[in-house]
Amino acid sequence: MTQKIVVLGAGFGGLELTTMLSEALGDRIEVTLIDRNDHFVFGFSKLDVMFGRQPPEAVRIPYRHIAKKGVTFRQETVTTIDPVARSVTTSGGAYEADVLVVALGADYDVEATPGLAEGGNEYYSVAGAERLREVIPKFSSGNAIVGVTSTPFKCPPAPSEAALLLHDFLSARGVRDACEISLVMPFGAPVPPSPETSKGLLTAFRERGINWVPNRLVRAIDPERKVAILDDDSEMPFDLFLGIPKHRVPDVVAESGLTEDGWVPVNSLTLETKFPGVYAVGDVTSVGTAKAGVFSEGAARVVAAEIIAGIEHGDQPAGYDGRGFCYIEFGAGRVGSVEVQFLSGQAPTGTFYGASLELAAEKKEFEAKRRASWFGL
Ligand SMILES: Cc1cc2nc3c(=O)[nH]c(=O)nc-3n(C[C@H](O)[C@H](O)[C@H](O)COP(=O)(O)OP(=O)(O)OC[C@H]3O[C@@H](n4cnc5c(N)ncnc54)[C@H](O)[C@@H]3O)c2cc1C
Repeated sequence: MTQKIVVLGAGFGGLELTTMLSEALGDRIEVTLIDRNDHFVFGFSKLDVMFGRQPPEAVRIPYRHIAKKGVTFRQETVTTIDPVARSVTTSGGAYEADVLVVALGADYDVEATPGLAEGGNEYYSVAGAERLREVIPKFSSGNAIVGVTSTPFKCPPAPSEAALLLHDFLSARGVRDACEISLVMPFGAPVPPSPETSKGLLTAFRERGINWVPNRLVRAIDPERKVAILDDDSEMPFDLFLGIPKHRVPDVVAESGLTEDGWVPVNSLTLETKFPGVYAVGDVTSVGTAKAGVFSEGAARVVAAEIIAGIEHGDQPAGYDGRGFCYIEFGAGRVGSVEVQFLSGQAPTGTFYGASLELAAEKKEFEAKRRASWFGL
């Protein structure tokens, strides 16, 4: 009998998983890939959109390009997940699975930070980044804050990237001297697992006059007084606030019985949840890696290899190692990178590759490779 595999979410995890399954098994399996959107956007493209480096339409990659043997894409919203029965309902119907993979990512809870919606901005959603295209060019003097409101949050280097790219944007417009940029983060260092990366970023902040505010979260925004209130009750005035909103699992996951302490726990080697035949990969889990596309993709590869081994009666793959790397925009067209290994049983460690034009080209290649393998573009 043909195995039915249902993959919820066509982000980094879902796209990599279905691509691997199709390449290895083709028509020998029936894969249904479900996403509420009609297009994918790379997380890092939001930085390009907010600073006007790319128009929004250029970063949307339509799912209609997916043409893979054995894979059917459905643009539907998942409304219930029953992990015991391995069944789901959506805005378009109902699905039963032999293997169910939850790759629904993290949603945002902007309302969890009082005043953020009324008085600030967030750039973590595509809509938020699009709004900022209009807002940022109007800022030409005063205080800008890039502020994290809660942990965990996606792509830990992204707040540093926003501060550095804002510096470039304001410098290019000749208004940098009239502006202060502050970066509020809940860590003692910008990228805690990699002291070298943190050192590189702190040097870049110092050189550019960016004010680094460590070990603090933004608890609330007072829109009337235009101040950010931090978790030690201190206040910072702002004219432009770029926030990283609170993250949470999508409602449908919260209601499914799959979560504990807000996220989906999984076996860190196999990515299986406590429900047999139900896996979870990526930002929706509490697997112990950073929340970033490269880790979602790495976890998806392990699940794909397990499914393939099961069908072909091959050896089970080695377990997930939580290894990945992230590119970091340093501004002036230069990109650095940090390679981190979580899940080795020890504190995560990272290796830093300094900002260069070569790494900027490598990042473009990273995106192009995925456009080609996931969408055939
Ligand atoms: C500003 C910024 C910069 C970033 N830079 C990087 C970077 O340089 N490198 C990197 O690796 N990562 C980066 N990231 C993080 C990266 O984008 C995410 O970690 C990654 O997308 C997570 O992959 P995922 O597959 O777990 O979830 P996602 O890619 O978020 O996919 C989840 C999918 O589920 C769908 N979905 C959710 N709920 C439902 C529902 N009820 N019904 C149907 N579909 C649903 C969503 O539409 C989405 O397509 C960045 C993120 C941001 C915000």
